[in-house]
Amino acid sequence: VIPLDEAQRFVLELCSPLPPRQIPLDDALGCVISTPVVATEPVPSFANSSMDGYAVRAGDTKGAPVLLEVIGSIMAGHPLNLVVGPGQSARIMTGAPIPQGADAVCMIEEVEAGADGDTVSIRREVAPGDFIRQPGRDVAIGDVIATAGTVLSPAHLGVLANQGAARVLAHPRPRVGVLSTGDELFSGKGALPPGQIRDANRHTLLALARREGWDCVDLGIIGDDERALVELLTRAGRTCDAIVTSGGVSVGDLDLVRVVLEKLSAGTMRWMQVAIRPAKPFAFGRLAESGTSVFGLPGNPVSAIVSFELFVRPALRRLSGHRVVQRPVYAAITDVDLHRRADGKLHLLRAQLSIDSSASWHVRTTGGQESHQLHAMAEANALVLLPDGDGVPTGDEVNVLLIDPDRLGTDESFTLPTSARGRESS
Ligand code: AMP
Ligand code: MG
Repeated sequence: VIPLDEAQRFVLELCSPLPPRQIPLDDALGCVISTPVVATEPVPSFANSSMDGYAVRAGDTKGAPVLLEVIGSIMAGHPLNLVVGPGQSARIMTGAPIPQGADAVCMIEEVEAGADGDTVSIRREVAPGDFIRQPGRDVAIGDVIATAGTVLSPAHLGVLANQGAARVLAHPRPRVGVLSTGDELFSGKGALPPGQIRDANRHTLLALARREGWDCVDLGIIGDDERALVELLTRAGRTCDAIVTSGGVSVGDLDLVRVVLEKLSAGTMRWMQVAIRPAKPFAFGRLAESGTSVFGLPGNPVSAIVSFELFVRPALRRLSGHRVVQRPVYAAITDVDLHRRADGKLHLLRAQLSIDSSASWHVRTTGGQESHQLHAMAEANALVLLPDGDGVPTGDEVNVLLIDPDRLGTDESFTLPTSARGRESS
């Protein structure tokens, strides 16, 4: 039996980032930049108005209200060859280029247009530069718009699009095959034959992988059949960067993933008993022929998910070029007694982490904690890291791994902490 961090280190040390490629911009969300991207175009590229209003010479508004002549109207996308002279102005819309001669914009809310449209009364003085977006104020030529290691957000894609980029050099998404093993798995329609169960793991694991943005391949179900498993892993290895299997890594008579992986990895596979509960058995190895990483997860549905979180996700994030591969751990108050007995293992309890109205973190378990009790996992957004010992009473602090940040604070009792309110701006 080995500690969790040793098992994680073993896997991570064998995984390195996939070589960067040119990736179409619209496919690059969440990808990791491999080299800094430097701006070659200023944004904005020309001085333009940040308001609907009137382009003026700021000096002309001294002692407002003042009456100015209106010499034209400039719309976004339609530059006009106007020169705003002394005593003159031009009607201008947001995003339209500032005409020659003008050095400020008066917002429409603070003027009164003459009935004929030939004049405008400016009610408030403006200073040079008011309501003008200057060239390069967002991004200047030479600015680093994404450092190496940046995880591309939707806004980054916009920043890159502003540079006219159609593609970006980044680490590609790993291609991941997922398969379920076991003679008991029933994939047909209708009632279950005696002794058969439905395949939950493939759906869960494919979804977990898809949520990470990886390219997923459904490799289906395979029985406890050594030759078929050899054939499938070898074939999938030729096109996948990683293969995730569930089942067949325990000490049972037909636990063949372990046996097959031993052969296909030329003996370099490691079969581990990790000091955790659930998800104790785990196998990891690389196919000798293709170099594809194979993760042999346990078959119990909760174990498979926990094992994915602890081993597959960090490793494939490393393949994807992420610098941060582990999820954050938060300290939280437990609202329930957390029972356990000392057994030398770290227990990972299915739990709901939430933030209360005074911005403190709380956690409670979501139901049955056996490794086949998938429903409690479905209700959870976090795993309590319950250390070896006799458990933790209500009100004490525990460490919690947040595994589903999107489901944090989605319960109806959740409110934003007051300190975070009222800061929004358009
Ligand atoms: P194994 O690791 O193959 O010994 O399987 C451990 C337990 O998980 C057994 O009760 C299996 O029936 C169950 N199991 C294995 N694969 C799946 C799966 N794909 N979906 C749901 N349960 C599974
Ligand atoms: Mg099995």
